[in-house]
Amino acid sequence: MPTPTEPPDKRNEPWTRRRADIQFQFTQAARMNAMGELAVTLAHELNQPLAAINNYAAAAERIVGDDAELKDLLRRMGEQAARAAEIVARVREGAHRGDVAVSPMALPELVAEAIDLAMADIARESVVLHYDFDDRAQNVLADRVQVQQVIVNLVRNAIEAMEGLPWRELRVGAAPDGDLIRIHVIDSGPGVSPDVAARLFQPFVTDKPHGMGVGLSISRGIVESHGGRLWAERASGGGAAFYFTLRRAPEAKAARETAARPHAARRLRPAGP
Ligand code: ADP
Repeated sequence: MPTPTEPPDKRNEPWTRRRADIQFQFTQAARMNAMGELAVTLAHELNQPLAAINNYAAAAERIVGDDAELKDLLRRMGEQAARAAEIVARVREGAHRGDVAVSPMALPELVAEAIDLAMADIARESVVLHYDFDDRAQNVLADRVQVQQVIVNLVRNAIEAMEGLPWRELRVGAAPDGDLIRIHVIDSGPGVSPDVAARLFQPFVTDKPHGMGVGLSISRGIVESHGGRLWAERASGGGAAFYFTLRRAPEAKAARETAARPHAARRLRPAGP
C-alpha cells in the first residue's frame, strides 16, 4: 500500500497566476466538449428517422400511380430528408473532436494542477489523498487542458460518490503499462452502481439528480484521441477504480523539447471514427 504523500510542490511556479489562466482555458474546453458530445449524439439519433422518411417517400412515390403532382411532392419530400441527413452528417463531422495537440508533459505536475481545480470548492482535509507516481511514469505525451479535463471529471465523480461517507480516500498516481503509462484514480466510495455499470461510458447516463452524464463519454473520447484507453474496475476495497493510458514521452526528449520549445506540440490523429 503506498504511503500518503503531498502533492508535487508548486511553490516554484507562479501558481496563482497560472491557475486563473488554466481555469479559463479549462472552462472553455469543457463547454466545447459538452457541446460536441451533444451534437454528435443528436446527429446520431436523427440519422435513422431521416433515412426512414427518405425511404418511405421513395416507396410511396413508387406505388402512388399516375398522379404526377403527388409523385413530384413525394420526390421533393425525399430530397429534403436526404438534405437534412447531409446537414446532420456535416454537423457531426464538424463537432467530432479533431486532432489533439500533444506535447511532452511532466505527469505529476499535470495531475496536481487538475486535482487542485477539481477540489477547489471542497475542504482538502475532508479527503485523504494518496499520490503514487512510479519513477518510470513521469512523462507523457498529452494535450494538457484535455487530459486535465479527464482527471477533473474522474476526481469530481470520485468525490461525489464518497459524499457523506465518514472515510473518504482518493488514490491518484501512475505506473508503466508496456509502452504506455497507466494513470489511476481510485476512491473508497460505494463503487459504480449495477444500474449504470453496463452503460457507464455512454452519453447521458447518470444517476445524479443534476448530472448531465457526459463526463465519462467525453473523457473516453479524449483519452482515445490520445491513442489511449479508459476503463473502470471495482477497487479492492469496494470503491470505483478508473484507469487510463497515455503514450510515454521519452524522458530525455521531454526535457530537451520542453526547454527548447515550451509550446512545441505534435499532432496526433484521433484513434477510431
Ligand atoms: P455525471 O457525473 O454527470 O453523472 P459521468 O458521465 O461523469 O456523468 O458519470 C456517469 C455515472 O457514472 C455517474 O452518474 C455515476 O452513476 C457513475 N460513476 C462515475 N464515477 C463514479 C465513481 N467514482 N463511483 C461511483 N459511480 C460513479
